[in-house]
Amino acid sequence: MTKSYQFGVYVGRFQPFHHGHLRSIEFALTKVEKLIIVLGSHQVAMNIRNPWSTAERAELIEQCFSAEQMSRVSFLPMRDWLDSDNMWLNSIKKGVAEISGDSRSIAIFGHNKDSSSYYLDLFPQWNFIETGNYAGLNATSIRAAYFDRQEYPSDSIPAPIDRFLQQFMATDRYQTLCEEYQFIKKYQQIWSVAPYPPIFVTTDAVVVQSGHVLVIRRKASPGKGLIALPGGFLNPDETLIDGMLRELAEETCLNLPAAVLRDAIVDSHIFDHPQRSLRGRTITHAYFIELESDQLPQVTGSDDAEQAWWISFADLVAQEDCIYEDHFQIIQYFISHKNRRLGCA
Ligand code: NAD
Repeated sequence: MTKSYQFGVYVGRFQPFHHGHLRSIEFALTKVEKLIIVLGSHQVAMNIRNPWSTAERAELIEQCFSAEQMSRVSFLPMRDWLDSDNMWLNSIKKGVAEISGDSRSIAIFGHNKDSSSYYLDLFPQWNFIETGNYAGLNATSIRAAYFDRQEYPSDSIPAPIDRFLQQFMATDRYQTLCEEYQFIKKYQQIWSVAPYPPIFVTTDAVVVQSGHVLVIRRKASPGKGLIALPGGFLNPDETLIDGMLRELAEETCLNLPAAVLRDAIVDSHIFDHPQRSLRGRTITHAYFIELESDQLPQVTGSDDAEQAWWISFADLVAQEDCIYEDHFQIIQYFISHKNRRLGCA
């Protein structure tokens, strides 16, 4: 049968893949010759919103379709750029063009579920096709029941996904995610009595020297064991820079005079994406500190940090999927900003 479009694009996280996603893809495949499934939030470190890796999600989706259907599907893993919809859009357009060549017969499929679906309006060059809502299914509630160790609605998900979720319950990753779920739930309960939803203010330090960044390993939930920037909540009686320097000293024992560190601040930026932290709305003020010395200063993990060390940029890139929240994007922001300043972008 002739299809209406040569290519279709379908964006999602599929955490987990449910019958609503399945129906939407089946519908899209009736309209297009080839469907590009954009696997969003690629390389995000495991958390209760994004528990499963891109490879796991692709493999599970494949198990839900016939060989004929899968022969018409391509996956396009896509990183988030929380600070820049433009970067995200351009990466999708580039990835789609690499698959579709110069075809102009492209439609984007999706369901305008709520304000989080705003991204569907960002592709005016492609026809938008609403897939409709299937049975009010919602991946957030499936995850909530699953990580709260409640009976999750297994009839909302295709059988291969259900089998996977059952097996996943025996893993250490599941235990970690359940702990994290309880931590976030309790945290949100504590703050639920506040007259207004809280907005937390944090600071982060991006300290670099000789191609290395100073990082810590988180000692506790959320993100226990993940690599992070030294940083934390601002105290009521301190300035942003004082808070940043305090957290830096507490977590890394970096023993340099505050005046030297202040002089070495070459850039700063506010990262305020509403979804950047699972604890709740958290605005961070990040500072880029460039040190110059022959030797990397001695550091030791302390306070909220199990470990502190200097990681090379290459190692950092290789461990992107082990980096807490948007900290990898924060580092990337400063490095690319620096390269632009130096005219070598
Ligand atoms: P999702 O898996 O929650 O949803 C995928 C699709 O399924 C959506 O169209 C959704 O509306 C639809 N859907 C949900 N419930 C349905 C139901 N019951 N019946 C039928 N359809 C249903 O994925 P998502 O979170 O919408 O994915 C968006 C991705 O794009 C994320 O990875 C996000 O981070 C990314 N993104 C990134 C940026 C940026 O980095 N600047 C900006 C926007 C979006």
